[in-house]
Amino acid sequence: MLVVMRHGASDADVARVVATIEEMGYGARPMPGAQRTAVGLVGNDGRVDAGRLEALPGVANIIHVTQPYKQVSREWREEDTIVTIAPGVSFGGTEVPVIAGPCSVESEAQIIRAAQLVKEAGATALRGGAFKPRSSPYAFQGLGMKGLEMLALARRETGLAIVTEALDDEGAHRVAEVADCIQIGARNMQNYSLLRTVGRIGKPVLLKRGMAATITDLLMSAEYILAEGNGQVILCERGIRSFDPSTRNLFDLTAIPLVQKLSHLPIVADPSHGTGLRDKVIPMGRAAIAAGADGLIVEMHPDPERAMSDGGQSLYPDQLARLVREARAIADAIGRSITPPPGTAPSARG
Ligand code: PEP
Ligand code: MN
Repeated sequence: MLVVMRHGASDADVARVVATIEEMGYGARPMPGAQRTAVGLVGNDGRVDAGRLEALPGVANIIHVTQPYKQVSREWREEDTIVTIAPGVSFGGTEVPVIAGPCSVESEAQIIRAAQLVKEAGATALRGGAFKPRSSPYAFQGLGMKGLEMLALARRETGLAIVTEALDDEGAHRVAEVADCIQIGARNMQNYSLLRTVGRIGKPVLLKRGMAATITDLLMSAEYILAEGNGQVILCERGIRSFDPSTRNLFDLTAIPLVQKLSHLPIVADPSHGTGLRDKVIPMGRAAIAAGADGLIVEMHPDPERAMSDGGQSLYPDQLARLVREARAIADAIGRSITPPPGTAPSARG
């Protein structure tokens, strides 16, 4: 529920609303806005009797949030949320960042080379898993802490922001020391303990849609992070399971405008896991930008044939450069622009 204050309501009016909500046994989140302040009521799982609040001085009206996800919904917040993971790298505004890099961090030489190629291609941030959620316990599980150190080195060398996955609560704290944005993978979308942990850590989170998750499931998972006080959540469409083995997953592009209608949070698209097929990544990456995605996350490997995971869906470096070039033209056509890599002169931006 949202208590919308009148234009010109005093600080004392707002404080009285907060105190009343707390007396009623709920949490209060004051949200100052450009026009007027609203106070969010959190902690209710059903309709709250607004009688006591309506009568307080300075209260304009009460909005009951009808969606089961509260703070994530557009009813809660009308304006788009902009999530900034590093200086100049923001999701949800007119600029559209491209996150690219290998599926896994494999060696220092590999990730440094990948980072240089990502930057040369015109992409904005570096991805790469140090902790990998693999379907087989016998498959390469990532380099762990050593991989994180290599990512930190790649950032020092190139200035690229780092997006990397956390698999569990303990790992999340370690990942948070290095990552600019903590990725929660599809397999962990409903790991509620992990969601609460990254909510409390307070760093930006990239939350991927689960393999069999509905849009509501995805938004409810995001609510766990916001409920802990962390509003910096970027959602990610990465394809869902279907009956058709022609592609690894069914890349659900409709999710992008759907989520943007239901939520104020930004949503990015992952055409690499969405299709699982290298030659489908460029067309579907272009389509995602056209559909209004607030960013792309794609796999690119300096030498995909030798990749230790997801080589078959990883772009060659020159393909990434082409995707960024073509994405720029599409973004331009819809009044947006691809975020330039760090260190790009302002005159060359846009
Ligand atoms: C990944 O990004 O490499 C990954 C494991 O993705 P997902 O969680 O979407 O399968
Ligand atoms: Mn992968």
